[in-house]
Amino acid sequence: MAVEGTNIQRELNPLANAERQFDEAASRLNLPAGLLEVIRRPRRATIVSLPVAMDDGTLRVFTGYRVQHSVVRGPAKGGIRYHPQVTLEEIEALAAWMTWKCAVVNIPFGGGKGGIVCDPDKLSKGELERLTRRYAADLSDLFGPESDVPAPDVNTNAQIMAWIVDTYSMHERRTEYAVVTGKPLEVGGSAGRREATGRGVLFCVREASAHLQMPLANARVAVQGFGNVGSVSADLLAKDGARIVAVSDVSGGVQNPNGLDVAELIRYVADRRGAAGFPGGKPLTTPIVEHDCDILIPAALENQITHENADRVRARIVAEGANGPTTPDADKILARKGVFVIPDILCNSGGVTVSYFEWVQNRMGLYWPEREVNDRLEHTMVQAFRDVLAKSLEHRVDMRVAAFMVAIERVVKVIMLRGVYA
Ligand code: NAD
Repeated sequence: MAVEGTNIQRELNPLANAERQFDEAASRLNLPAGLLEVIRRPRRATIVSLPVAMDDGTLRVFTGYRVQHSVVRGPAKGGIRYHPQVTLEEIEALAAWMTWKCAVVNIPFGGGKGGIVCDPDKLSKGELERLTRRYAADLSDLFGPESDVPAPDVNTNAQIMAWIVDTYSMHERRTEYAVVTGKPLEVGGSAGRREATGRGVLFCVREASAHLQMPLANARVAVQGFGNVGSVSADLLAKDGARIVAVSDVSGGVQNPNGLDVAELIRYVADRRGAAGFPGGKPLTTPIVEHDCDILIPAALENQITHENADRVRARIVAEGANGPTTPDADKILARKGVFVIPDILCNSGGVTVSYFEWVQNRMGLYWPEREVNDRLEHTMVQAFRDVLAKSLEHRVDMRVAAFMVAIERVVKVIMLRGVYA
């Protein structure tokens, strides 16, 4: 679908960006245009109206989406986002990125994403549960371990996944854990899932610094966003000998050139609900993206590095914990500056990889110890990093273009083997 608008609207439009990234990589592959068109478009997009009984006795109708971008390599896989600004276009972009992400790490899933237009901060727990159950019930003919497997995303969590398991299971008349991932451990979750995305970031950063011959010991790291991905990445990198010199979140930011005490900061953030005012450092005075560091980890939102600030990025490595933090215009500037970007579809794929392990464990009914999960994750991520790096060196393209090339080739190969049903 073409995206219209001014240049800046275009630069910040995730769907336009996902399509640009796809097109750039696809143009370098000698593949039939018709096949590329098949895999570029979302397979199916569903819009539902969700009536919910509110606590005050009124009825409100919310809008929900589910996009299955691809089911070529396996069931659609991707999170559900609750946010007032959710749009169908954004969900389409996120669903497409999931297809490429699953292909880059070579797990047998396609790509999907869902969302509900709502502000969860303004809903009671009961309203949130009823909204979630109605969404799950309305989409229960799409969802299923063999067809479409949701997971948490922005503003959704393990509790919401447990409600979806329960709703789906009531409709199916049997307990079915494998219908979603990111569940609580007690409800079929996997050991290591909470830390998986940050751990994957660590594995990618290790590989990148080895490739660039830049020692990780004492490397200066700045982290934007100190939620699940940001805090786990910071913690594991600090344990690997790196120095976390700056951290920011919605509350503000904190810096310490000698390195922040990450364990203390995690405790502080949990108590105060933000990093601002942390006594182990000084307030940040510049935007974190421009902080003087060796490794920058955007782990918050989309569109944080744009054509306006990319020139001021001082890091040697940008490790994208978030989805879509760098716009394609910014990518060009970073490439010119020699910044090594580990693209989101590779760098944050640890989460979906362990989601795959969770789904496998649910279907086996056998649960692995955390060490086994982490070892398998490391093997998968290191292999994916090396596949992408090899493609990048072979075609003299940046890591993002290379990751898309690897992913597109893998999806096309399956279509060619399966054929297109009449
Ligand atoms: P989260 O809600 O746990 O944390 C988000 C963090 O970003 C919070 O610390 C918040 O304060 C911070 N933040 C928000 N706005 C900010 C701003 N303007 N400046 C600085 N910080 C800001 O979310 P998460 O699960 O850590 O996800 C973060 C990103 O990683 C998202 O883009 C998400 O899609 C992506 N991601 C997450 C996973 C996962 O497994 N959790 C997997 C893949 C990708």
